[in-house]
Amino acid sequence: MTNIPELFGSMVFNDEVMRERLPKDIYKALRKTMQSGKHLELDVANVVANAMKDWAVEKGATHYTHWFQPMTGVTAEKHDSFISPVGDGKIIMEFSGKELVKGEPDASSFPSGGLRATFEARGYTAWDPTSYAFVKDGTLYIPTAFCSYTGEVLDKKTPLLRSMEAIDKQAKRVLKLFGNDNVKRVSTTVGPEQEYFLIDKEVYEKRPDLIYTGRTLFGARPSKGQEMEDHYFGSIKPRVAAFMKDLDEELWKFGILAKTKHNEVAPAQHELAPIFSTTNIATDHNQLTMEIMKNVASKHGLACLLHEKPFAGVNGSGKHNNWSLSTDTGMNLLEPGDTPSQNAQFLLFLTAVIKAVDDYQDLMRVSAASAGNDHRLGANEAPPAVVSMFIGEELEGILDAIESGTLYHEKEKTLMEIGASVLPHFPKDTTDRNRTSPFAFTGNKFEFRMLGSSMSISGPNIVLNTIVAESLEQFADRLENAADFQTELNALIKENIKEHKRIIFNGNGYDDEWLKEAEKRGLSNLKSTVDALPEFVSEKSKKVFTKHGVFTEVELESRYEILLENYYKTINIEALTMVDMVKKGVFQSVLKYQKDLAKVMSEKKALGAEFDVTMESSLLEKISKLSASIYKNLEVLENSIVEAKNHDSDAYEEAKYYREVVFDNMNVLRTVVDEAEAIVGKDYWAYPTYEEILYSVL
Ligand code: ADP
Ligand code: MG
Repeated sequence: MTNIPELFGSMVFNDEVMRERLPKDIYKALRKTMQSGKHLELDVANVVANAMKDWAVEKGATHYTHWFQPMTGVTAEKHDSFISPVGDGKIIMEFSGKELVKGEPDASSFPSGGLRATFEARGYTAWDPTSYAFVKDGTLYIPTAFCSYTGEVLDKKTPLLRSMEAIDKQAKRVLKLFGNDNVKRVSTTVGPEQEYFLIDKEVYEKRPDLIYTGRTLFGARPSKGQEMEDHYFGSIKPRVAAFMKDLDEELWKFGILAKTKHNEVAPAQHELAPIFSTTNIATDHNQLTMEIMKNVASKHGLACLLHEKPFAGVNGSGKHNNWSLSTDTGMNLLEPGDTPSQNAQFLLFLTAVIKAVDDYQDLMRVSAASAGNDHRLGANEAPPAVVSMFIGEELEGILDAIESGTLYHEKEKTLMEIGASVLPHFPKDTTDRNRTSPFAFTGNKFEFRMLGSSMSISGPNIVLNTIVAESLEQFADRLENAADFQTELNALIKENIKEHKRIIFNGNGYDDEWLKEAEKRGLSNLKSTVDALPEFVSEKSKKVFTKHGVFTEVELESRYEILLENYYKTINIEALTMVDMVKKGVFQSVLKYQKDLAKVMSEKKALGAEFDVTMESSLLEKISKLSASIYKNLEVLENSIVEAKNHDSDAYEEAKYYREVVFDNMNVLRTVVDEAEAIVGKDYWAYPTYEEILYSVL
């Protein structure tokens, strides 16, 4: 039996290890840096580096790497060994403070958007001491931020840390007004629920589309999909259970709080949820989780699919970003309290979030936009592309009562007066039932449900932190100058509820009626990634991000370029893979089938007129027509890929072309290929079918 408490965090250079291995004054200096975000002195860094190296070597490490999160969406690492020559052909293992604190990877090979032209190839990585170093596969991993020579950030960690600072600053101002002077730090917390598919590796390896694009570009619907709803929370198959057990233990070693695991709605789909932590750590851990999932799967002869829509016709995968605010004194600011003053404070934070989401719907939408997620948002399985929020009927009733100054009909029938009377206690469970809202209040946190399964959670949290910081700043400005705090507070909450309540929707978000209603309310509906991305660089967006020091304008513009690039490159790769698969696999399949049909027909005819060939001839006619259609549509797709080059002078135009022409052509081609697959049958078909893939793990 594994000793889990002993296993947990065993590969992490965590607080316990630091305290044990560092001289007291050095430990103190490091803690101070971690808490305040101040610079680490080189002499301190030297001692820390040396202790880290000794510890890492004991754990079997020979190398170290600055682990960072460039705009590719995955993590990057370059390994250097600890060896250092000491003459006589001998070496020692060495690691200096300088090497710990700063690295210089070549930045030119990472996406940098427009920045590429203006900065040198050099880039810097800088240690983020708020995220622990760890040893994995013989290498010491040091979590770092990544920026260009000229200082523009090129990664997903730095702006996240900046956004956390922004919200910390504004939340503390608000807390002060409620007399919470002892709060030193307000952090945003996140627990990301991660969905994924597990399929057999052998089957996976026969699908170039899964290998190159992460999703199936063809595939006739299986006769059994998810309609029986027997997979959700179903009993876990032994092979999957073995994978999950291994995965948990692997994650625990790295101090990742893996907690919940279960089967999801679609066949072969599963979910893992960790216990929440501060946003920065949650982001690092989620990146690590995705990577470890793939590695552990591979060891079990499985392939882990993280794409948002690996299979048409069954649910895709998302990520639920549970988000809240908490203080270093242990207060959850989105937890309705028991006393009147806590209630008022809670209501103010709640109102700040409502205002933020309404004011910046578009930024929230952009933060969940990707080529992969376009297959989910707005389809019948994920929240629509319209951002709205769910707060539950009870809370809505309270807000309504505040807005109109009427009685809130609770048991005691107390008149709701903020700060003066008791907020009716509402049990958490009553708010946790809406599964269709993009942004749902679930008792003491919000669950942002629009995220795609493969994406870094950094972007959505950067947006959430920044826009809520903006609301809080406006509130603090007003309340700090109020003649009478209580009166101003009441007025502020009331006004904001009135102004922003259109964003609240407690009904079924998957219903078409809602889209009509949302339009009436003037909510924005950015259907695709290409529609959404320009909002990232709107004047409003620039204003809020620069004001809070999260992005500079240059950084925003460069990120916009990168997002557009990511989009059209993804579609381009998909289109090319599709063309290749048709040419190398689908053609052969349909030809072989036609040949066999023709052969049977001619053989039957030779035997005599009494042999009926109705079936053969009708099938031959069908497949022959479909083949011609495949051929024609393939040509159309190929031409459009070539034509796309004529739009490459502008990233937006190129993305738009890919969306409106190439992507549509792919869908048309897919339809005919899928029809052909359904007729041809699996013995002829060059690729594993949906049945074979989705039910490949027994
Ligand atoms: P459900 O499936 O009902 O949404 P789960 O238990 O699967 O619930 O996931 C809830 C997630 O929310 C967990 O990751 C949990 O750690 C996280 N969570 C709970 N409290 C907070 C909080 N205060 N801040 C952020 N995340 C939280
Ligand atoms: Mg959830």
